[in-house]
Amino acid sequence: MVDDPADEWFSCAVCGASAPGPPITWMFDNDRRRGGLWYCERCARDNVRAVEAKLDQDWW
Ligand SMILES: [Zn+2]
Repeated sequence: MVDDPADEWFSCAVCGASAPGPPITWMFDNDRRRGGLWYCERCARDNVRAVEAKLDQDWW
């Protein structure tokens, strides 16, 4: 129920950078404990590895 998503600010879960609206270059991750998390373009690259590693751990 958001009339204007552009009014929303998203902050990076890693470095704390913030940007208005849903940043298309950012990555969204749904963490079981912390809920929905956003990662800025820069941190997303690092996070992809972490997420994959985490998934591997859960999987194996
Ligand atoms: Zn960041």
